[in-house]
Amino acid sequence: MNTVSQQLDKVPITRLKGVGPALEKKLNAIGIHNLQDLLFHLPLRYEDRSRVVAIGSISAGETVQIQGEVRSTDIQFGRRRSLRSTVRDNSGFITLRFFHFSNAQKSSLAVGSQVRCYGEVRRGRSGLELFHPEYRVVRDNEDIVVEDSLTAIYPTTEGLGQARLRSIANQALAFLPAIADDSIIGSALQELLPDELIEKFTLHSLVDAIRLIHRPPLEAPLSWLSEGKSPGQHRLSFEELLAHRLCMRRFKSDAQQQPAPKFGDSPALVTDFLKALPFTLTNGQRRAYKEIAEDLARACPMLRLLQGDVGSGKTVVAALSALHAIAEGYQVAIMAPTELLAEQHLTNFCQWFEPLGINVGWLSGKTKGKARTLQLASVANADCQLLVGTHALFQDEVIYGKLGLIIIDEQHRFGVHQRLALREKANQHALNPHQLVMTATPIPRTLAMSAYADLDNSIIDELPPGRIPVNTAIISNDRRDQVMQRIESACKVNNQAYWVCTLIEENEVLQCQAAEVTAEQLTTQLPDIRVGLIHGRMKPQEKVEIMQRFKQGDLQLLVATTVIEVGVDVPNASLMVIENPERLGLAQLHQLRGRVGRGSTHSHCILLYQTPLSKAGKQRLSVMRESNDGFYIAEKDLELRGPGQVLGTQQTGLMSFKVADISRDADLLDQVKNASEIVLEKYPEIIDPLIQRWLADNVHYANV
Ligand code: ADP
Ligand code: MG
Repeated sequence: MNTVSQQLDKVPITRLKGVGPALEKKLNAIGIHNLQDLLFHLPLRYEDRSRVVAIGSISAGETVQIQGEVRSTDIQFGRRRSLRSTVRDNSGFITLRFFHFSNAQKSSLAVGSQVRCYGEVRRGRSGLELFHPEYRVVRDNEDIVVEDSLTAIYPTTEGLGQARLRSIANQALAFLPAIADDSIIGSALQELLPDELIEKFTLHSLVDAIRLIHRPPLEAPLSWLSEGKSPGQHRLSFEELLAHRLCMRRFKSDAQQQPAPKFGDSPALVTDFLKALPFTLTNGQRRAYKEIAEDLARACPMLRLLQGDVGSGKTVVAALSALHAIAEGYQVAIMAPTELLAEQHLTNFCQWFEPLGINVGWLSGKTKGKARTLQLASVANADCQLLVGTHALFQDEVIYGKLGLIIIDEQHRFGVHQRLALREKANQHALNPHQLVMTATPIPRTLAMSAYADLDNSIIDELPPGRIPVNTAIISNDRRDQVMQRIESACKVNNQAYWVCTLIEENEVLQCQAAEVTAEQLTTQLPDIRVGLIHGRMKPQEKVEIMQRFKQGDLQLLVATTVIEVGVDVPNASLMVIENPERLGLAQLHQLRGRVGRGSTHSHCILLYQTPLSKAGKQRLSVMRESNDGFYIAEKDLELRGPGQVLGTQQTGLMSFKVADISRDADLLDQVKNASEIVLEKYPEIIDPLIQRWLADNVHYANV
């Protein structure tokens, strides 16, 4: 075949027989533009169509291929109009049933014609039926071709049938060289991985992998794909994960080429700060701080992730890091994802830093008018040494006079794209500040190795001494009365409680309304208890006041939406009720629960679920009862919900894989890490093509 020397990503899909403009459009809609795309469009599952079975031998629930003569075709009227055909072979009858059908379909199933059908057998109105089978009319003297491989079922779009997709996939497969042979220069589908990697990690060649995935041998298990056991899939996952990792490494090494200010290692400010602190650092905090201080002393920008379970004391570590920059006359920006959390930081940092003579500033989207103008001016002339705020810190009009360190709290909510955009923005001002990102949601190792591969990692692996694990109970909404009693008795002995309302809709208005209603109900039901309410739509000032009153013990029960998830610190609160916990992710529940158990009394968390609770729901909630360990919970969350959900759908970005699945392919990550080191050292020329092949849509980030 003389097409061998053509690169398949350059061959338009319209080159294939039967692909005109209409079909091209449909293929484009599912991301297929050229022959390479088509080959990388992988099946969802397989079916075995190697055998035609006798109609008399089949039973309900099986997926079968049959062939026979059409004996009748008519339209049935009833609750739903349907097209019904009866098909017979020499062993019995079966009914085909279609609820959506065209006239053409009706005439193709003419009495007397031979049809080959494939579908699932169900018990229907007239005995055994095939619902919406795939079928084909077999012409008189046509050979009965039996498939010699499993049949691939592809993801598709409306108006593009499986048979059509399979036939064009077959044409594309025919472009591959008969034998995988890297000696063919410019082979049609370029093998990017060097032999060394293929051998070391016992991978299939790309061409073999593609062929195996599209046309697996008959003896392969039908569950090959779903169970992640296909060696072809394995090879492609490996290559994809490698491409991602190299892309992340590229970000990192690009950053390391840039100059950054060096900060000396034990400024007097740090000594003063530690002296005033009412506690000593834990070993975990000390270790993390030391790693950060070493980074800050280097002349290239730090890119470090600080992980620590909720309550492990990351804020103090952030403060220590900030002092290094401030001591050298540089500015620090601390960004939090919500107003409330940013305000908490502001309170902390003012309390810690103002006695040291440090000028602490505040900027949020709601800072307006003169206050804003003044704040911006003091940021621009570097009078403001530490600026606390929300996303507003990195709007275009905010110009920093001498930014040396960016600290991002709750990194999890920002996602990869924002992180990269932020870096880009920081670079625009010809500043290369150091970056510390902190996450309260521990990141499972697999995610840390993929989504965060561009960051160095510090982990605070212990909680401050004296913390008592929170006791968690799972209680049905039918027993709400008991929960009320628990609240009453807790408040009687001067403890405080949270009542958290959740709603599945991502609708803030509804969420806040629900909280308002609940607060009213609880106020009536618990007349002796002082009930307060806090939610996201209240004015910042109102929120601060409510939190203040709760902190001082003036309010005993605080009804809240999930706004209290992060950052709120009231050690006297020892009971938390979470309504409809089944609607939240485990990591979020863990965050919420972390608001209690901060003091010296035993704390309790009640997960008040709505009946009926699904089996999966029960399973998830019991993880919360079993464990107080954020890392364990995060792993479970990933296992039960998958990375898209865990990272947040809008944040997946670079994390949306075509083939790989980091839960399923977790065991590949160490090998991929290994392989990426080899590539960086010996085969840098394949980095660009790999990124191009797998991340073309996001590739502009590679150039920041
Ligand atoms: P997180 O890691 O969840 O952000 P914080 O920084 O908010 O945790 O700290 C939680 C609480 O623990 C705060 O009240 C903080 O003052 C306190 N804390 C931090 N470090 C220590 C320590 N080494 N010993 C005692 N308490 C500490
Ligand atoms: Mg925190």
